[in-house]
Amino acid sequence: MRVHLINPSDVAFGIGVITPRWLYVIAAATPAKYGDPIITDETLEQFDPETIRPGDVAGIGIHTANVYRGFQLGRLLRERGAIVIYGGIHPSLYPDEAREIGKAHGVVKGDGDVVWGEVLADCVAGQPKAVYDGGRVDASRFLPARWDLLPKKAYMWASVQTVRGCPKHCSFCSVWRTDGQVARQREADPVVQEIVQLRRLGYRFIALADDNFYPVTLRDIELARKQKNKEREDYLIGLRRERFEMMERLAELPKDMVLFTQITMEAAEDPGFLRAMNKAHIRGALVGVESVTPEGLKSVYKEFNASGDALAARLRVFRENGVHVLGSFIFGLATDDPSTFDATVALAKQADVTFAQFVMMTPFPGTVDFDHWEKSLGEGAERILDVPVTRYWLLPGHARPKLYMPHPKMTAEEIRMRTQAVWDEFYSFPEIWRRSRCVKALKSRLVFMLISKLYRQMYANTGIATDSARRQTSNRWARWLAKPCRLFFQAKPMPDLAVPGITRPAFDIVGNSPMRGVER
Ligand code: SF4
Repeated sequence: MRVHLINPSDVAFGIGVITPRWLYVIAAATPAKYGDPIITDETLEQFDPETIRPGDVAGIGIHTANVYRGFQLGRLLRERGAIVIYGGIHPSLYPDEAREIGKAHGVVKGDGDVVWGEVLADCVAGQPKAVYDGGRVDASRFLPARWDLLPKKAYMWASVQTVRGCPKHCSFCSVWRTDGQVARQREADPVVQEIVQLRRLGYRFIALADDNFYPVTLRDIELARKQKNKEREDYLIGLRRERFEMMERLAELPKDMVLFTQITMEAAEDPGFLRAMNKAHIRGALVGVESVTPEGLKSVYKEFNASGDALAARLRVFRENGVHVLGSFIFGLATDDPSTFDATVALAKQADVTFAQFVMMTPFPGTVDFDHWEKSLGEGAERILDVPVTRYWLLPGHARPKLYMPHPKMTAEEIRMRTQAVWDEFYSFPEIWRRSRCVKALKSRLVFMLISKLYRQMYANTGIATDSARRQTSNRWARWLAKPCRLFFQAKPMPDLAVPGITRPAFDIVGNSPMRGVER
């Protein structure tokens, strides 16, 4: 029996932007007696079904966006004799669908870090269970990824996780429901060791694949104090202290390293935290701005964000303290109207964000918005190719609506066109050139322009355009731009780099966790 781990994708750019971390974590969770898993990331190249032998296990990780391709693969591989197991957020929510449509033998719900060994043992015994509940694994049991299995020269950024879970409850987001609202923070040692291993391999850009890097706000602590809840206050202060301790350790990494994370805008209240991030080489963060109006923020349960001029000022605090912002905005909220688009792009400029993404409101399963939407349509939901629109992920990409929730003031096409226009404006050459002043040397400014254009091609045209010719052209452009961009991201390997200030070895640096070699 061989173990295949597959990240499905319809679109391959030849070079990946960020390593899909789950592949290498589940590889680490694969007991050594089954050999190294065969890893395929379809954002690099399509999986070759010829490599499957009867009795092999195919572990397919899916989220809502790649369900269609994932199920296509699962059906094909089962026909060829593989034992098909799905994992990831989507099948955790819809295990029956994965069995009925994706032809799964088994589904792993929740975290796979611990339960994967049991799944494989059952596969070997020829008795995989229909459902495994991996639950929410404690941070002390998160496995370091098997970076020794990374293909060479394939990705621009590697990914390491420092925390799972987010205490907020935004209506369009499933993280707080799937990963939970309690921050599960890893200790500094295993995080630093993974990063050092990656730098040894030549990765100097690392995405911290965290749900929310700032899980405790000063306001949370103040509230616990006012409520005289000493236990909670101490707990929150402890979590906050751990963040600072980890950042102190990260500060000792080589000077050329650049880390990026996701964070809430609340961190602007805490310049000391932002400065610690900068010292820790965390030079950028995705900040979910979502809407520039108070009504829009209220509609997505994100009233903790600022709006208007206060919003621009808050976002600038990040930059002033050395953290660049990738602002994320949503269009198509019921409170939006045609003026929202211009106001948003003006705000993004005024706030000095370095990058921005503009997404159209989509009800993702597992979210409050999805529940409301599904309930509002009931049995009468429109059917496309005989699939109810509330199961849109079962449709091929070209058949999916661009907007799912009817808007009170604009048509779906108007929202799509205006969103496309905002991308065009924000990523026009003059605008990118203006923003490229954030780096000094001419060469760096040119690289900044190249990366901005690549980002736009990968995420705007391929996702928003309805016209397949435009999508294909964009895809070709992205493939072409990705090659020189990767050269910029790669660094000379540092095989002898020492782990700074190790306090306790969490795993052997060649990629083996203490659990490797023993029965897992
Ligand atoms: S959108 Fe961000 S802040 Fe809101 S719940 Fe999700 S992870 Fe947390």
